[in-house]
Amino acid sequence: MASKSDPKLLSFSEARRAVEAYAARVSPSDPELLPLLEAAGLVLAEELRADRDFPPFPRSTRDGFAVRSKDVRAVPARLRRTGEIRAGASEEQSAIQVNSGEAVEIMTGAPVPAGADAVVMVEYTERSGETVTVKRSVAAGDNAVAMGAEARQGDVMVTRGTRVNHSIVAVAAAIGRAQVAVHRRPRVAILATGDEVVDINLRPGPNEIRNSNSYSLAAQVQAAGGEAMILPVARDEADELALLLRKGFEADLLLITGGVSMGKYDLVEQVLASFVAEFFFTGALIQPGKPVVFGEVALDGARTPFFGLPGNPVSTMVTFQLFVQPLLDGLSGAKPRRLPFAQAVLKADFSSKTGLTRFLPARLSGAFEKPEVELIRWQGSGDLMASSQANCYIVVPPEKEQFRAGENITVLML
Ligand code: AMP
Ligand code: MG
Repeated sequence: MASKSDPKLLSFSEARRAVEAYAARVSPSDPELLPLLEAAGLVLAEELRADRDFPPFPRSTRDGFAVRSKDVRAVPARLRRTGEIRAGASEEQSAIQVNSGEAVEIMTGAPVPAGADAVVMVEYTERSGETVTVKRSVAAGDNAVAMGAEARQGDVMVTRGTRVNHSIVAVAAAIGRAQVAVHRRPRVAILATGDEVVDINLRPGPNEIRNSNSYSLAAQVQAAGGEAMILPVARDEADELALLLRKGFEADLLLITGGVSMGKYDLVEQVLASFVAEFFFTGALIQPGKPVVFGEVALDGARTPFFGLPGNPVSTMVTFQLFVQPLLDGLSGAKPRRLPFAQAVLKADFSSKTGLTRFLPARLSGAFEKPEVELIRWQGSGDLMASSQANCYIVVPPEKEQFRAGENITVLML
């Protein structure tokens, strides 16, 4: 067990790996059957299998003419138009046989008729009466997808543990699933601490500030597929803190903000240690967010993970993305998502020398094939205005000091 006097200070990647390892061990919440659109954003508790072949018939991918590729090896080739097949054609209408020297007019999404092995795009044909002149050759299979080429009936199209995004919704819809089994949203209790912190519907005194962290965290929790429960703000007082922590441990995960730094009234770790708590780390070599704490409490026969996130609003947001999100993925039944790193060209010089991996609010702009990034001027990790203007963080490795305009730099997307 680690505490403030016995710190477990990890590098960024060690801390991230510690969370990922823990996330791989947790059991996800129970499955429930939800209407398809309510399942979006949650994680599949079942696999989705093809209820028939995909495509269910050989499908034309172009408007044009279904032909025998042999007939158009030498072009221009003159063929006889013998009919038409449109998307959704009845079996009878699509039962046309394409013989040598023949072409059948066909639409995108229509079944390629027997005898034909390819489709010539209408752009490469000329029609006069019932004669079609094909001006470009096609190879067998061109502009058509064979029946079952995407998936065979019974094949697993999407595995259990996949988060339902719009593509997964499309698969579920295509196999006729109006409801799918997903894991219930993990419940995440959020506890803000601090004598200066007041709830947003109260008027703050001159030296007080409003509780923005509980709300930014709740928004992040919801976006990550969790269900947020905001607890009342805890004073910097041990007994009150203990009471609210106990309440928070009823959830699947407890997030505490504030009170984890080195100040005299930063009581969170101390009070946590009065429970049966294990600390996996009590700090990470990052900035913002260095005092971040990750651990687990055993209470009433259950083990509940918790994070102590530093109270500075930008620290809270960054540490959520870096460390809380992968655990939420695990609790939701999924593998932790990769962090969305990207490369961009730096617009202006800057220097940094901290020995920490830094995540600095920044703005990505530039043409889409040439992303450029610049730092946002900020007053440190309490600067909400700066973070509200950011759409990414510049990732500063601990050992590098000078950064020059024009060089490639790693960014973490929001
Ligand atoms: P702490 O981590 O408790 O030392 O707090 C660091 C800074 O974050 C202080 O300036 C706090 O006033 C501020 N802070 C702490 N909790 C919150 C909160 N819930 N909402 C907004 N700011 C906070
Ligand atoms: Mg505090």
